[in-house]
Amino acid sequence: MRRLTDRLYDVVVVGGGNAALTAAIAAHDAGARVLVLEKAPETLRGGNSRFTGGLFRTRYDGIADIRRLIPLSDDAAARVDVGQYTHDDFYRTVMRVTGGQADPELTNTLIERSLPTMEWMKHDLGVAWEFTDLWAVQDGDVLRFTPGAVVQALEKGVGLVQTLYEAAARRGIPIAYRTKLMRLLQDTKGRVVGAQVKDAEGFAELPAVAVVLGSGGFQANPEMRTRYLGPKWNTVKVRGTGFNTGDGHRAAMDLGAQPFGHWAGCHATPIDADAPPVGDLRLTDKTNRLSYLYGIMVNIYAKRFVDEGEDFGAYTYAKIGDTILSQPQGIGIQIFDQKTVHLLEERYNTGTPVVADTIEALAEGLHLDAATLRRTVDEFNAHCPKGKRFDPSVRDGLATEGLEPPKSNWAVPIDKPPYVAYPCTGGITFTFGGLRVNSNAQVLDGENEPISGLYASGEITGGFFYFNYPGGTGLMRGAVFGRLAGLHATGTPAPN
Ligand SMILES: Cc1cc2nc3c(=O)[nH]c(=O)nc-3n(C[C@H](O)[C@H](O)[C@H](O)COP(=O)(O)OP(=O)(O)OC[C@H]3O[C@@H](n4cnc5c(N)ncnc54)[C@H](O)[C@@H]3O)c2cc1C
Repeated sequence: MRRLTDRLYDVVVVGGGNAALTAAIAAHDAGARVLVLEKAPETLRGGNSRFTGGLFRTRYDGIADIRRLIPLSDDAAARVDVGQYTHDDFYRTVMRVTGGQADPELTNTLIERSLPTMEWMKHDLGVAWEFTDLWAVQDGDVLRFTPGAVVQALEKGVGLVQTLYEAAARRGIPIAYRTKLMRLLQDTKGRVVGAQVKDAEGFAELPAVAVVLGSGGFQANPEMRTRYLGPKWNTVKVRGTGFNTGDGHRAAMDLGAQPFGHWAGCHATPIDADAPPVGDLRLTDKTNRLSYLYGIMVNIYAKRFVDEGEDFGAYTYAKIGDTILSQPQGIGIQIFDQKTVHLLEERYNTGTPVVADTIEALAEGLHLDAATLRRTVDEFNAHCPKGKRFDPSVRDGLATEGLEPPKSNWAVPIDKPPYVAYPCTGGITFTFGGLRVNSNAQVLDGENEPISGLYASGEITGGFFYFNYPGGTGLMRGAVFGRLAGLHATGTPAPN
């Protein structure tokens, strides 16, 4: 029997996640013969995209734009408050959380094309959208969202990936599983003209007009993590797929592709201290512990170490994993009382909390020094402001006074037992450093010239995120630049 890799293709797409599949479908629909290479076996296909909460950050002028994605009755629309999240709002968010370092051109392309790309995914690919349950707060009859982080794929990452594979199957796009990119083929003019791949039967050389790299970051490669992120990351738990090991980065840089962005930076979040060493598809993103805003966090010496209320979770969760990992043994313990414990995300149900009626008993259950924990909680409580209203739906300005580190919002005393504690660690999600691309998703060389025939999208690209990241932007980036890659690789102009 002939292998899939024995046939001829115009476009070879490397990877089996959101970035790769959107590229493959866009190229196919523009008339190209496309092959998708997925390193994972079929049962584990879908990369990090399958693990996600399916959240897509997009610009919108108001509820009318959201209703283009999610059909809603007028009644239902009146019960949600999504606010407004314009191009400028999105741009300001990215620049604020990245310390102004995100590439302006790439950021503008991402934002401009966010909403139209989600509409394309709905109408052409069959992706169903729904409101996210993340960071939304019920306020009387109205569900209030953190603007920008409003819409997720139905059934989250699992649903998204299933829909994308179904869309590819309907089009007859072949997927070669357990087949990995080894290196890129180049002609004497420097054009990328195909890829060398390896499957169970050995090596094969695939000629192609263009290759699109959607092979993810290098977060599952301990050697690259240690080399680029530092020794602290050597043994970190990986939240998602174990297949993203920087293969595409290395293959492209061997040809002179330009490394770009924050190579020493990554997205890392608080996760259950007992989470598995690599993501488990039965748990997907459920090991996350993102309700730290409503309590305090202490290290194994029972001391606070971070401003738990600096901002909404959407703007701190991706950097706080690093802060936890910097603590002794990489552990941070989240402590809540009965005033806020009802606000914890449902995902906390996958963990086993330590619960106690006194702070001393809680310390004993957590193997912490009881006197120190008592002092930490008393000190925190004494610095909480009095007489102001706690409001989780806004940055409520309920800030500690004269405490180090401060808690800048949602600071209410921990004094209503039983107390509930969840031990956490930092888990790596994806890496920020990657290949430099332009707004056509063409990979650039060291002189900022496109490498003919080579494209990249998703986690493998750099220059979008530095130090931190606004929730929901990873999937949006992959879809926007995946579609652009598929179109440009086939000589098709991007729609306005
Ligand atoms: C638990 C979790 C939750 C998340 N939640 C969200 C969220 O709600 N919203 C959001 O925007 N982002 C989220 N993210 C981040 C998001 O997953 C990524 O930004 C996005 O999915 C990356 O898509 P991608 O297609 O670039 O990479 P992936 O989806 O990881 O796909 C990479 C693919 O490349 C394949 N591959 C690797 N090497 C090779 C090779 N040599 N040859 C062939 N194939 C190869 C892999 O097997 C994989 O299929 C989350 C991540 C995790 C881990």
